[in-house]
Amino acid sequence: MDFKLFIQKNELFRFCPGCKKNGTLVRVKSKITLINYILGVLSYKEFHCKECKWNGYQFIYKITKNYIRILFNYFYLFIILFIGMIIFSYLLKRFIR
Ligand SMILES: [Zn+2]
Repeated sequence: MDFKLFIQKNELFRFCPGCKKNGTLVRVKSKITLINYILGVLSYKEFHCKECKWNGYQFIYKITKNYIRILFNYFYLFIILFIGMIIFSYLLKRFIR
């Protein structure tokens, strides 16, 4: 089963919010500041546009196309765990007094 809900965006298909062109953004090596560190932890990276000189932060992950199937996988996992817990508590009650 596949549980990856977020996948990393392809750099080539990332489009610039400034000039709406594909593949013009390059990742900037950001200076280590507290804000950059926090944004980095949240998977936001600093980008720079080669065409229009746009600068900014973008989220590097996107939700997968088949996210419904993956949500169902989580749902099945939850049900399996739930049934397992019921059986386990039943066995505990029955054999341990
Ligand atoms: Zn641009």
